[in-house]
Amino acid sequence: MREFVRDYELMAIRPRAGNTPLLKGRFAFIACHPDTGEIKDAFDLEIDVPKNFPRELPTVTEVGGRIPPTKPYHVNQYDYSLCLGSPLRLRLLLSAKPSLVGFAETCLVPYLSGISYKLKTGKALPFGELDHGFPGVFADYQVLFGLKSPEQVLATLRVLGKKKRIANKLPCPCGCRLRLGRCLFRMKLIPFRALANRPWYRLQFQEMCAYHKVIEADSRKKAQLRPAANNFTQSALTGAAH
Ligand SMILES: [Zn+2]
Repeated sequence: MREFVRDYELMAIRPRAGNTPLLKGRFAFIACHPDTGEIKDAFDLEIDVPKNFPRELPTVTEVGGRIPPTKPYHVNQYDYSLCLGSPLRLRLLLSAKPSLVGFAETCLVPYLSGISYKLKTGKALPFGELDHGFPGVFADYQVLFGLKSPEQVLATLRVLGKKKRIANKLPCPCGCRLRLGRCLFRMKLIPFRALANRPWYRLQFQEMCAYHKVIEADSRKKAQLRPAANNFTQSALTGAAH
């Protein structure tokens, strides 16, 4: 935390009774990107750093009222904290420099510079925007794991939640029809096992499964409604012809 407030001198450490201190103040940064040029901005933030950081990630809230608390700005709707990226992507970025300064540089500044660009220009977020929430997480995990479907992502999270010995006996998530232990896809999982532990992956698997089931049920309902809608149009047309 000391290193963080030295680098971001308008941020201060606020002690809290019975809790970890809160980082609060003006977070000023300069970022450069070939598509946008230099972005220099500052946001008023509260950063709640959990006791077991970097195992768990900080929760960041913008308190200056500049970022609209909506999904297009990647603001979580349950607590209005900022959604800086998919949970696994943030862990991956942070693993290169697992400190608060590393978190600021690799997770926070890219998000805030994108938001700053969007606020100033009205254009979409640069850096390849993902949807907010679960659809974005599914899309990002497909890229991270090099897979083609949400079902494969779920199968991968499932094997990451199990001990290697047991996971190797399961069907490989990549779609090769081999057991995981016989496919090179297992090598791809090694760095991910280092990023988070099995209970963490089990929780991710449960949450994403629950979301996926809702989506599946929704698309089935829509598929059932479609023929009925067509019949209606057809009879309407025949009616008009008479
Ligand atoms: Zn495979």
